[in-house]
Amino acid sequence: MPTEDIDRAVTLYATGHSLRYISRELAWSVTTVRRYLIRAGVELRSRGGNKNKPVPQDKIRIAAHLYRKGLSASQVGEKMGIAEVTALRYLKLANEPRRTNKNATHCKWGHPFTPANTVIFQDGKRRCRRCKNKKNREWIARARRAAESVG
Ligand SMILES: [Zn+2]
Repeated sequence: MPTEDIDRAVTLYATGHSLRYISRELAWSVTTVRRYLIRAGVELRSRGGNKNKPVPQDKIRIAAHLYRKGLSASQVGEKMGIAEVTALRYLKLANEPRRTNKNATHCKWGHPFTPANTVIFQDGKRRCRRCKNKKNREWIARARRAAESVG
């Protein structure tokens, strides 16, 4: 393993990135990342992190700033190297009002919100029918595979 990759992993971890994030970034497995970090003398944080840990104010500000510039919560997460749910938590802490997608004409995968392709939920939010059906099919396929593996 090249030393600069290990240095990079150590730096990323020290700046608050997760093992999973580093694993994606360096194309190593999570297990490999963990092994090299431990070997480099890094003390690993507890798994899943501490939810009560105060979030640095600058991170909250950065998240709110990026979101206001028009990035989606998932794009904010990507840019900051954090999960989308974490980005959403930061935005909430920043009291940043969530944008609704009621003006969007297409779902995030580019399917049009035509009447036939739109499902309206009880909360009034719209969902793309094609994406919803795809998710359902995937879920059923997964459940079926799980059932088969049990026998
Ligand atoms: Zn869609």
